[in-house]
Amino acid sequence: LFIAFEGIDGSGKSTQVKLLKDKLEQAGLKVYTTCEPTESPIGKIIRDIFTHKMEADHRVIAGLFVADRLDHLLNKTNGIIKMLEEGYTVITDRYYFSSYAYQSTHMDLNWVIQANSLSANLLKPDVNVFIDITPEQSMERLKKGRTSIELYETLENLQNVRNKYFEVMELLQSVEEIFKTNGNRDAETISNEIWNNLERRFN
Ligand code: C5P
Repeated sequence: LFIAFEGIDGSGKSTQVKLLKDKLEQAGLKVYTTCEPTESPIGKIIRDIFTHKMEADHRVIAGLFVADRLDHLLNKTNGIIKMLEEGYTVITDRYYFSSYAYQSTHMDLNWVIQANSLSANLLKPDVNVFIDITPEQSMERLKKGRTSIELYETLENLQNVRNKYFEVMELLQSVEEIFKTNGNRDAETISNEIWNNLERRFN
């Protein structure tokens, strides 16, 4: 089972990943959680760009995300494909929907989808869980929780990314499994809703 969590910044993905991991483990499954950008050297370059230590054209950033995802999938030590083969349920905090939504705020969506097809063709999530919050709620949470404001984190950009997510989900709804949930509720309520939905899908 391979599950991707998606949403704009501050949507509560990492909290939900943890809560789902606990539930799956209690159900007796082996769970591996991971995220994008990854902790690999390629992921580090991406983080350096987002924290303004380095500069790069948006096409280069898109390319780095593709490379980072390929390593995320194919790494021989802890790649997603290897972990799935070893019997883990894998949960990732961001996957290709993030690339489509974020990178297409600067570039043509079809270009982004095309550029990502190398990695997207390798492995599709069994379900993409999209946690929806408004940009206002996002900014509120980001102001409380974080010290560094990353490249995309302004109200306008968050709105653009959210719109892109909806455009992407509309475009791909016939070929992707998508579960949308309202992220503006307490974490346990959201987690239970996700759990019920996944149980229904996979039992
Ligand atoms: O989820 P997290 O806050 O770790 O993501 C870091 C940042 O990376 C996001 O705020 C987003 O700006 C960016 N990102 C992106 N494209 C992706 C994944 C993340 O632009 N495919």
